[in-house]
Amino acid sequence: MENTTIAAISTPEAAGALGVVRISGENAIETAAKIFTPVNGENLADTKGYRAHFGTVHDGGTRIDEAVCLVFRAPHSYTGENTAEITCHGGLYVTKAVLRAAFNAGAVPAQAGEFTKRAFLNGKIDLAESEAVMSLISAKGRQAATAALNTLDGRLSKKIAECAGRITAVLASLAAWVDYPYDEIEDTSPAEMLGVFTAAAKDIEEIIERYDSGRVFTEGVDTAIVGRPNVGKSTLMNLLSGCERSIVTDVAGTTRDVVEQSVRLGPLILNVSDTAGIHETDDRVESIGVERAKTRMERAALILAVFDSSEPLNSDDISILEACRGRLSIAVINKTDLPEAADIPDIGSYVSAVVRISAQTGEGEKELEKAVSDLLCAEGFNPENPCLQSERQRDCCVRALACINEAADALRTGVTLDAVTVCAQRAVDALLELTGEKAADAVIDEVFSRFCVGK
Ligand code: GDP
Repeated sequence: MENTTIAAISTPEAAGALGVVRISGENAIETAAKIFTPVNGENLADTKGYRAHFGTVHDGGTRIDEAVCLVFRAPHSYTGENTAEITCHGGLYVTKAVLRAAFNAGAVPAQAGEFTKRAFLNGKIDLAESEAVMSLISAKGRQAATAALNTLDGRLSKKIAECAGRITAVLASLAAWVDYPYDEIEDTSPAEMLGVFTAAAKDIEEIIERYDSGRVFTEGVDTAIVGRPNVGKSTLMNLLSGCERSIVTDVAGTTRDVVEQSVRLGPLILNVSDTAGIHETDDRVESIGVERAKTRMERAALILAVFDSSEPLNSDDISILEACRGRLSIAVINKTDLPEAADIPDIGSYVSAVVRISAQTGEGEKELEKAVSDLLCAEGFNPENPCLQSERQRDCCVRALACINEAADALRTGVTLDAVTVCAQRAVDALLELTGEKAADAVIDEVFSRFCVGK
């Protein structure tokens, strides 16, 4: 790998107490020494690794800030290279000025994810673990963070390596068989091979299923809150988000557009859109909102259809209920703190579940959480088990699974052993692509291009 020295701001570009400028590469410490002078008079370039120095940052004689510089010497750093991390004051100006000083001292701008890419290329972490770094940064809740941290610690990679290892052992036996077809292969019988394929397929299926069900925690589920005007959609949204995000008024039709927000409902994450009320309207602006609401409802994975329990259902309510048929939907019977209208019909037959709440007082929120959790089968998700972190990883597993099943079928039906070998080898390749042990440069580049600069 080219040993350029790269630099980037690793903290958000916003006002904050502290900011970090990271410099990595063979000459990182010498580069930092040109712009950072420790107060104790030591030369940074002579300092040992794992040391922190307090001092000043300067650029061509101009003092920029007081800062702390951490020194890591290769290979004992995140990237595996010499690294200096300057922790200066945060904010828009200072961090940029420190970065510019680093460039003036010879560093070049780091590309998106280049620090982690270097960690990968230097063998500090594999590709699956690299992706977990990004998942950890973007985790919206505890479950997602735990799952990402466990993957970063190698829990997924270990499981994948185990599966690949078992299939590779079968491949070795198959090779012996192909080479000496008339000999008895004593160490692995076809039945045993089949057993290995079946067990590996089961492990990989479980990993895929866990990723799919875990999305509720990691990415959140696309949720639409729908209902005619004034039933309490905005109030429900505010209850869920815990802040005054939507405009709540008692004039019908005031939530005219779609407001999107991720909210946490217990451990679950709902990507909620609070939509304009669905009803027939002549108001032009409002009708644009209504159209969007209908579109939103069509593409949502989960519908929270809100109804006002203090009023009889009208034709708008019924048409919303009709639209819920066959969809993952919860009827949220709101305003239970008010006297109930006499003729609320049985709406359970239209939706997947019915929950009664008062969005205003918060009563019934726990029941809503339970209904959503039950509906999304979220109970079974355990982030302590090996978890995939990206669609790319899922795709590798899907391909590996298909190849393992093909290999097993070929073995069962007595197709030539060559065919079994080809399928099993493809399965191993897909698994090694997941961990990056056998991934094309284009795949690696694509993974890191999705990172942020400074990571
Ligand atoms: P939206 O048009 O569906 O978004 O309805 P809003 O959230 O704007 O609520 C309409 C009116 O109903 C407001 O005056 C709210 O304060 C009131 N409201 C909402 N939820 C409740 C509830 O649970 N109980 C009572 N009593 N009033 C509520």
